[in-house]
Amino acid sequence: MAAASQQGALVLEGLSKRYGTFTALEPTSLTIEDGEFLTLLGPSGSGKTTLLQMISGLTDPSEGRLIFNGEDWTHRPVNARGMGLVFQHYALFPHMTVAENVAFPLEMRKLPSAEMKTRVEETLRKVQLDQFAHRFPKELSGGQQQRVALARCLVFRPKVILMDEPLGALDKALREHMQLEIRRLHKEYGTTIIYVTHDQEEALVMSDRICVMNHARVEQIGAPSQIYGNPETLFAATFIGHSNVLSGEKVSSDGDVATIRTPFGTFSGKHTARDRSATDVSLIIRPEQMRLGSAPGDAFDGVTGRLTDLIYVGAETRLLLTLGSDTSLTLRHDPSAGDLPSIGDEVAVHWPKTAARIVT
Ligand code: ATP
Repeated sequence: MAAASQQGALVLEGLSKRYGTFTALEPTSLTIEDGEFLTLLGPSGSGKTTLLQMISGLTDPSEGRLIFNGEDWTHRPVNARGMGLVFQHYALFPHMTVAENVAFPLEMRKLPSAEMKTRVEETLRKVQLDQFAHRFPKELSGGQQQRVALARCLVFRPKVILMDEPLGALDKALREHMQLEIRRLHKEYGTTIIYVTHDQEEALVMSDRICVMNHARVEQIGAPSQIYGNPETLFAATFIGHSNVLSGEKVSSDGDVATIRTPFGTFSGKHTARDRSATDVSLIIRPEQMRLGSAPGDAFDGVTGRLTDLIYVGAETRLLLTLGSDTSLTLRHDPSAGDLPSIGDEVAVHWPKTAARIVT
């Protein structure tokens, strides 16, 4: 397999995990490129940590192989992999100073003390903690402790860093700050990072590619814009960003375009469904693609619904519409687009056919 010989690439070939009869991860195949930032994104229990732990060597796969740089690493012990691990509970040594914590991996590797000192100083500067070298972990904020954990990992220059919800314990502002810090450090060091989160915004901000997971399997892998713009499944479309969903039956397809019959009309859209043979499908339209008013021509589709709520969120107002008994739509209205309708009004909305997606 050509991918297996790619310099620095991590190749997963049908890696799976079962506990008795329970499947924690279905056979999974993917290639993580050298220097890539790949995020495993999915709800609780979808198999993210299981996949990460098999890459780290902390969990043995039930089947499949893990290839690193062309070598079979499936059963290679954890410490022989030399990967950096950063978890939510960062487990700093409480009796050691920040500098001693960061020096620890270098001591284990028996680096000469002058080089060790230089590397620790340099890494602490990178995470902007050089002023804190002599403090103890309990004298630091959560974000600072998390940066020490990151420095302790970066200092030995691993080729691959695995992070499992590393920012989960931090408040929103600190989490957002640290997301940008990790992104910056990734660019600077060029390390491969595999990052677990269940936070879609975090995944969008940080990743080169996102691997969307659900029910022990990979739903879709792609660049953030690719998954947002061309979701292949209903789960991917609704887990990343908000989607308006009209479900129905596929009545025709022609190349990349398909037509779906729904209780509210027959519409067409780009056929991005992973399963092209499925007939139970959904039409997906992102809120920002919908406009008020009737379809202005053949290039548009539209529906009519009842306005049930108006939500003011600063830069825009969100309009909530109900169609029939159980379908709702959201669209955005920017203040320059004119007057808002009133709650209870029957309103027409439309969207360009080219903006709709048909998924399974
Ligand atoms: P979370 O976001 O909650 O951490 P996750 O996506 O990381 O979830 P995993 O930790 O990979 O999920 O777990 C996947 C499934 O495997 C879960 O249903 C979990 O209960 C199960 N599982 C994990 N470890 C074991 C184990 N040692 N024995 C049995 N089942 C396990």
